[in-house]
Amino acid sequence: MAHIREDLFKQTTGNHSIDRRHFLKLMAMAGLLAATNTRRVNAFSSKAKGKIVIIGGGAAGLSMAARLKRWLDTPDITLIDPSDRQFYQPGFTLIASGVYQPNDVWKKQENCIPSGVKWIKDSVQLVDPVQNQITTCNNGKITYDFLVLTPGLQINWTMVEGITQATLGQGNAHCIYDFEGAQKTWQALQKFAQTGGKGIYTDTYTKHKCGGAPKKICLLTEHYARKQGTRDKLDLNYYTAEKQLYDVPYFTPRLEEIYHERHIPIHLNVRVKGVDTAAKQVHLEKIETINGEKVSTPFVEDYDFLHFTPPMSAPDFVRESGLGWTEGKLAREAWVMVDQETLIHKTYPNIISLGDVAGIPTSKTSAAIRKQVPIAAKNLIALMEGKEPVEKYDGYAACPIVTDYGHVLLCEFNYKKEPEISFPLSLLDMSKEQWVAWLLKVYALKPLYFYGMLNGIA
Ligand SMILES: Cc1cc2nc3c(=O)[nH]c(=O)nc-3n(C[C@H](O)[C@H](O)[C@H](O)COP(=O)(O)OP(=O)(O)OC[C@H]3O[C@@H](n4cnc5c(N)ncnc54)[C@H](O)[C@@H]3O)c2cc1C
Repeated sequence: MAHIREDLFKQTTGNHSIDRRHFLKLMAMAGLLAATNTRRVNAFSSKAKGKIVIIGGGAAGLSMAARLKRWLDTPDITLIDPSDRQFYQPGFTLIASGVYQPNDVWKKQENCIPSGVKWIKDSVQLVDPVQNQITTCNNGKITYDFLVLTPGLQINWTMVEGITQATLGQGNAHCIYDFEGAQKTWQALQKFAQTGGKGIYTDTYTKHKCGGAPKKICLLTEHYARKQGTRDKLDLNYYTAEKQLYDVPYFTPRLEEIYHERHIPIHLNVRVKGVDTAAKQVHLEKIETINGEKVSTPFVEDYDFLHFTPPMSAPDFVRESGLGWTEGKLAREAWVMVDQETLIHKTYPNIISLGDVAGIPTSKTSAAIRKQVPIAAKNLIALMEGKEPVEKYDGYAACPIVTDYGHVLLCEFNYKKEPEISFPLSLLDMSKEQWVAWLLKVYALKPLYFYGMLNGIA
């Protein structure tokens, strides 16, 4: 395992001396941009007053807390979150492929909460948006003037029959959307590369965080086996619930080509219903529209290694509090009903929501949150000052699809599904996988998360 970590930089830079110089230049430029950004962030301030409560201290909630604390002269911020640990979740894929160690991806929550922010270590049960009141599990009721709703999403493990979060790994059925699950995946992936057999990889039919994650672990398994010289023993298959592998046209052709080159067939319009871990069989259903009618065809596949993705939704309390969409594509999972540009709730203008829970038509990634935070914070401050919120989010999200140990197809796009490549990467052809993007993914994004985003400066 350690050899993978040690060899990574050598492997990915060793034969690229010119590219390495290029990378260092890119990083220097990025450093300059970061310094400029810090100055810009510190240049804004407001005398606005009001009690702000933030529900959920993950990527979005902590970044908002830090940003608001920087921008308000007299911040009054309370954060409600039950977690002991703050996870850098994009690192789960790298744990599952042996690149990161489990301890690389988390810090104690108490060390991530900005000083001066009051932390209530508890879970929210209900929000009464008319009375501006929150009911917690153990701390009674808490009132607010302004609410930042950032509890992330709920993974609905029970919606896949036959397996639970606690039994992940049984029958060699795995899921990297869980910290322990990612660790079990790495153990199993190494064995699978030795023994060989049939590997099945699935996504799910609901919006899910980092839609690229299931694709990444499939491609990394393939490359890992190739590196071990055992690729011929593996029969790999990718099942997606969607009608195509990826829906951002600038990046789709190359991604499909990669699957084709690696001999991984893509099966479209297929959902997972359950797993029979004893028999090592996955129960699937193909959903097709025939003559305007939805037709479901169930079928069963044997597997030796399974990676599945459970359906996801807004946490139950969001639906129960009447804060989710009630109509349209985002209603079934009760994603929070916000304006997609201002991120302000459509019914309750003293509530702002961002991150995975927000009901907006873009990808659920921390890269998206990095762009949402300054917009949400400025709009919230405008509301506190009794002004019109004018900042607009264009739907920017990024999904670094790791295509092998050494390359990433860094998909950056907006609501219109147009590529929106960040400078200085726009100097390269980002419709193709790039080793520079791999270096960014493995070495730069985690510190950017813990020391930039969570400090309100990235
Ligand atoms: C395997 C995997 C790979 C990923 N890869 C990438 C990637 O490559 N690039 C990328 O940009 N993003 C990636 N992501 C997605 C990214 O991690 C998420 O989009 C991001 O963490 C969401 O931030 P959030 O603040 O909305 O939610 P979270 O970070 O999940 O935080 C939610 C917080 O709310 C708290 N909470 C929940 N319910 C309650 C309640 N009732 N009361 C109070 N608090 C509550 C939780 O304890 C938690 O601390 C990946 C995620 C996974 C799992």
